[in-house]
Amino acid sequence: MILKGNLLFAPELGKLECLPNGCLRLNDAGVITEICKQLPEDAQAEEVVDYGDKLIMQSFADMHVHAPQYPMAAMGLDLPLLDWLNKYAFPQERRLADTEYARKIYRRLAQDLIAGGTTRVVMFSSLHTDATLILMEELEKAGISGYVGKVNMDRNGAEGLQETTEESIRETERWLEECKRFTQIRPILTPRFTPSCTDELMEWLGKTAVERDLPVQSHLSENDAEIEWVRNLHPDCAQYWETYAKYGMWKKGTVMAHCVHSDARERAAMKEHGVWMIYCAQSNANICSGTAAVRQMLDEGISVALGSDVAGGAHLFMVRVMEDSIRSSKIKQKETGLPFLTTAEAYYLAGTAGHRYFGAKSGFSVGDKLHAVVLDDSRFAVDEGRTLEERLERAIYLAQPTDILAVYAEGKKVK
Ligand SMILES: [Zn+2]
Repeated sequence: MILKGNLLFAPELGKLECLPNGCLRLNDAGVITEICKQLPEDAQAEEVVDYGDKLIMQSFADMHVHAPQYPMAAMGLDLPLLDWLNKYAFPQERRLADTEYARKIYRRLAQDLIAGGTTRVVMFSSLHTDATLILMEELEKAGISGYVGKVNMDRNGAEGLQETTEESIRETERWLEECKRFTQIRPILTPRFTPSCTDELMEWLGKTAVERDLPVQSHLSENDAEIEWVRNLHPDCAQYWETYAKYGMWKKGTVMAHCVHSDARERAAMKEHGVWMIYCAQSNANICSGTAAVRQMLDEGISVALGSDVAGGAHLFMVRVMEDSIRSSKIKQKETGLPFLTTAEAYYLAGTAGHRYFGAKSGFSVGDKLHAVVLDDSRFAVDEGRTLEERLERAIYLAQPTDILAVYAEGKKVK
């Protein structure tokens, strides 16, 4: 099969490839076999899907998102992190004990992710094993791939939202066993954040991560009060990251959301150990955490990708996340004097960077399964003759999920 249209992809940070009326050739498994400037001469026998003047872009990877908080997106955002957790996020997450409710909201979440062109995720569930399995089912059914984590929380939770250490271990074992039936969604170990887990649980999680070769996701240096809390809980650790390192969870492929207040030493530890920083610009502003030093981290060679952080972030749509990332980096520029993120860079971080976490190559690449969106920008393209670069910029600021006409994930058309 051949897809024809205006191809736009980001092979490297800051680099944009534009192929007007280009073609992507796919084999039966949905793997890209050729990227061409025009319809190949030997294409006669093949099905050609012609998207005309539409934009064929890379799909998005949301690298930090809390599934159970989706129904409360855009609520309680006048509160700082720890108050917001207690007043809004924890009571909402408690509702996921109800599997019928879980089915309803997770089906909707999966559909909305695809509708907005997000085809890969690294996601938090709640501490409920059954609801987590339902979430994984719904994501896989919608065509999404990636990692989902059952949350571990055996202290500092809320009434009805906390496990005993024994329960947390037993339920995580059960969950990991059940996860074997999934093919596109895999498990990631998820201590909610250091204050949520006892030393005993952290030790078990770290051991399990190594023994079973499982990735880890959590939060790092998001908010001043949180950092102070971690310091009091672990007086033996000079910095927040060391509370993960102490238990073997600071390793290649570990995903840390926020890192708003990570200083040079913490950043150096990220770089050295191959830990990813997930930039959640909207959430960082919404719950008054601050603005992360994204440019510094990129310059220092840290792996960075973007997260909606719903529901600290109000928008699941990654186009909004790109816009917020650019804007936040412009605010940070006043403080650091370092350049803000360009359109091409934000596009790279929302797509290629996340896809690379899952082993994909650069932009659209021969040998990769297709992850793409077809975007119709005619609604806001009021004049003609704009370059594809200009059209991408307008799309980042003006597109809505309804402008996405088609979505391809793992080589299959899913919208
Ligand atoms: Zn989060």
